[in-house]
Amino acid sequence: MKIVVIGAGPGGYVAAIRAAQLGGDVTLIERENVGGTCLNWGCIPSKVLKTTAEMLLRFRRAAEFGIRVEGDVRPDLETLMARKDRVVRDQARGIRTLLDHSRVRYLQGEGFLKEGGVVEFRSPEGESIDVPWDRLILAMGSRPADLPDFPFDGERVLSSNDAFLLKEIPRSLMILGGGVIGCEFAFIFSALGTRVTLVEGLSRLLPLPSVEEGCSKVLEREMKKSKIEFMVNRTAESIEMGEDGCRVTIGPSPFCDDLKEKDKKILTRDVEKVLVCVGRKPNTEAVGLERAGVETDAKGWVRVNEKMETSVPGIYAIGDILGPSRPMLAHVASKEGLVAAQNAMGDDLFMNYRAVPGAVFTSPEVADVGLTEAGALSEGLDIRVDRVLFRNLGKAHVIGEIAGETRIVSERKSGKILGVHIVGPHASDLIAEGTLAVQNECTVRELADTIHAHPTLPEIMMETALKALDQSLHG
Ligand code: FAD
Repeated sequence: MKIVVIGAGPGGYVAAIRAAQLGGDVTLIERENVGGTCLNWGCIPSKVLKTTAEMLLRFRRAAEFGIRVEGDVRPDLETLMARKDRVVRDQARGIRTLLDHSRVRYLQGEGFLKEGGVVEFRSPEGESIDVPWDRLILAMGSRPADLPDFPFDGERVLSSNDAFLLKEIPRSLMILGGGVIGCEFAFIFSALGTRVTLVEGLSRLLPLPSVEEGCSKVLEREMKKSKIEFMVNRTAESIEMGEDGCRVTIGPSPFCDDLKEKDKKILTRDVEKVLVCVGRKPNTEAVGLERAGVETDAKGWVRVNEKMETSVPGIYAIGDILGPSRPMLAHVASKEGLVAAQNAMGDDLFMNYRAVPGAVFTSPEVADVGLTEAGALSEGLDIRVDRVLFRNLGKAHVIGEIAGETRIVSERKSGKILGVHIVGPHASDLIAEGTLAVQNECTVRELADTIHAHPTLPEIMMETALKALDQSLHG
């Protein structure tokens, strides 16, 4: 079976490996670098920056931990970016080795759909080859979306990609968009010493249906403590360029009714740079989707069913090109890649989004899986929500990170765990246990009966489960 995959992000390269493992004759076409947005412009570089940001925050608290630091502690952006490039390069090399071992043919260049089961490959040198397929997997991903009044120039108005290419730490930065990427960058740049202002058009930070309002509230409190200025219910209206900075005018948000008088005031801020984090656009233009008959919505996101099949038999699509109606996350792209690859090779699998963990790498981190309280109520479920604060945990005091909480949403009668929501230290790691619980329909009784090592942060899961049984010990 000839399988062609276009795009070597976490969706495409995983799909290619799985199809090859199942005996497919696989060709993977990538126009930039293996690893896609995730490895080159997303998950990995942002977490390298976050690691340094967190170390800086720790160093600033050194005295509290009994460490005397003589002289000042300052970030060195050149070394930080060089480390980021090294981590990305090493990971890319690893992926290329995996592809070679799996006997995936890797073609560096652009792929275009043609009629009659053929993809045209164009190399950077201008060479063109027709690659025939029996099954085609589209995994072209997405890119940063700009705002009409704030076009990217790479200098004053930055995309998230541009942020990874900075040569100097900005003195001040306005971030437009308080979603996952905007909030992560706000904490990173603030720790690096930038004066950060964040503007969000909706009524809370992380205004995603998967994030509990309570988690947003905790994050807002911690943002204030970090001296990050943030505004909700507001949008940036215009920008005036100056000699060494710009003036941004901020007005009331057109997305909110019921604004308070104070939210209606027009404000201005003078900043060195603006970072636009307002969403993503699909990489689906000019690749011949229409020619092949692949259906998209009005914004260009590809339509698929639960088997990851597009409107054209034999053509599958996965990952970010499916758009924001599904979680736009690396691990979701990979899982969809596995489903598409297996189906392309003759299986009959369905993608299930019930237990998709989400992690936001702020300080503290935010993570979730399954239903929120509001989501469960809107499904008419009879639930209870139990909450335990990290300050009740010995380990949180040991590491000096007591801010935050864990919530479990469970079905009242059966005790079935429907959702877990964490804001606090290492939330992105802790959510794994919640994901296992939601995926396997565990009950709070099963979680509470599981012995957890002491002193560790996962004890908070057991404590919250005990609370849901009205048998709280420390919560
Ligand atoms: P992509 O990773 O975008 O890969 C698509 C690939 O296709 C690209 O390499 C592109 O060059 C290639 N391509 C496009 N068109 C063609 C063509 N015609 N021919 C050949 N090649 C083509 N997700 C998480 O889960 N965790 C995180 O912590 C996280 N952090 C993020 C931080 C930032 C700043 C950003 C921007 C994103 C982050 N994400 C995170 C999201 C994650 O990066 C994406 O969801 C994921 O990369 C999507 O994978 P994909 O394979 O669908 O597409």
